Amino acid sequence: MSAAHVPHSPAPLLTAQGLAKAFGGVQAVDGVSFSLQAGELLALIGPNGAGKSTCFNLINGQLPPDAGRVQLGGHDITGLRPRAIWRLGVGRTFQVAATYASMTVVENVQMALLSHYDCLRQWWPRAAALYREQALELLTAVGLRERADEPCSTLAYGDIKTVELAIALANSPRLLLMDEPTAGMAPRERGALMELTRRLAKERDIGVLFTEHSMDVVFAHADRIMVLARGRLIADGPPAQIRDDERVREVYLGSGRLLQARAVVSGAAGSSTRQEGPR
Ligand code: ADP
Ligand code: MG
Repeated sequence: MSAAHVPHSPAPLLTAQGLAKAFGGVQAVDGVSFSLQAGELLALIGPNGAGKSTCFNLINGQLPPDAGRVQLGGHDITGLRPRAIWRLGVGRTFQVAATYASMTVVENVQMALLSHYDCLRQWWPRAAALYREQALELLTAVGLRERADEPCSTLAYGDIKTVELAIALANSPRLLLMDEPTAGMAPRERGALMELTRRLAKERDIGVLFTEHSMDVVFAHADRIMVLARGRLIADGPPAQIRDDERVREVYLGSGRLLQARAVVSGAAGSSTRQEGPR
């Protein structure tokens, strides 16, 4: 039978195969394999220390893996430098806000565009007029057009995180890596930022890999959820399947958070009250 007649899903945007990384005696990531499609929102969850950030750093080039491969659009990007991986269309947001407080909102986005188009940063401020329209379009996309000419320092934290999303989009990414994009944000803002991310990902066909503490946000916005425990993936599937996965519930047993998310999604009552939780 020819391939044309076989029903198949499109080739994955990102594929990780057997990724491994140890720090001294700690096996932070232990044989992680998964794939991600364009336009898909994939959440990586797991307790604190499970290896989530290390996974991100193996994909974005911050860390070389001890073993395993990473492919982007079918091309091997394993071990490439962060800048090279970024150039291939892998954007990222940072856990700690990384905008220039003294510059205006639109200037921050213009800087990112200049970098994307490889203009030298020392041209600034002569380049101040460059890419302004494009930067304003990106700010419109994230709902911050009217704040464009204010210094970033005047923005609320949630808005700064939203500017970071616009900055990440300046690179026209095919893949967006968001490690705790909503860290430090109020619960309502968290949902709004992920909703915005979801809309933009669908509109622009961007694959998104993200971590997030709030199980409510994860279960409400992810297309698929992977669960990491002690460096290993113990589950990978749509939210409804992850909710009912026994091993996942064991990992989160006692935290109450997954049970709460379950209650939100299914209307069932959660019962656990212990405090220590996944991060
Ligand atoms: P998560 O993001 O899921 O909380 P991390 O990937 O940050 O987990 O960490 C996984 C494990 O690897 C933890 O035991 C952590 O202490 C360890 N680890 C992470 N980064 C380093 C590092 N640069 N040096 C040494 N140990 C590290
Ligand atoms: Mg982390």
